[in-house]
Amino acid sequence: MKKIAIYPGTFDPVTYGHIDLIKRAVKIFDHVIIAVAKHPQKKAVFSAGERVEMLKVATSGIPRINIESFDGLLVGYVKRKKARVMLRGLRMISDFEYEFQMALTNRRLDPGIETIYMMPNEAYCYLSSKLIKEAASLGANLRDFVPVFVEQKLKARLVKRSNPKG
Ligand code: ADP
Repeated sequence: MKKIAIYPGTFDPVTYGHIDLIKRAVKIFDHVIIAVAKHPQKKAVFSAGERVEMLKVATSGIPRINIESFDGLLVGYVKRKKARVMLRGLRMISDFEYEFQMALTNRRLDPGIETIYMMPNEAYCYLSSKLIKEAASLGANLRDFVPVFVEQKLKARLVKRSNPKG
């Protein structure tokens, strides 16, 4: 049986931390589905379609993956995809509490699905989409954190938002 992992998230926008995790995952699993939450808890800067597109461009050289968006209960989506593994990233201890709660809740909802955590390269341990958005809005150079085209889209969007007429 093919080992399929689902890597769910908001990806608003994709960062080198996400890409690092995807590259690690394809070494372990036969196929990795990157699942973009259409309606995340937090308000997204980019639409689900835009987030999927950016991920597609940023991961174009990585084999055996596909990228799609999903809505509704995550464990239901994982089951429909005939996968039994959900993949998440662990950065700092600060991720731990939320992830622990989520993994145990999802296990209760569907005991047949396991959540597996991976740690990124230490260079990306502190990197988050949230931080990137803040830095972008202040005009920081994001070269070390996201692909250039993502930086450009992010800055264009955030500048447009703060100055809709200009
Ligand atoms: P969510 O909104 O579901 O937390 P994100 O898009 O922020 O989604 O992240 C998706 C997954 O990728 C999460 O498991 C998150 O912990 C992980 N992740 C995000 N940034 C990094 C990073 N720099 N290194 C490793 N994992 C990361």
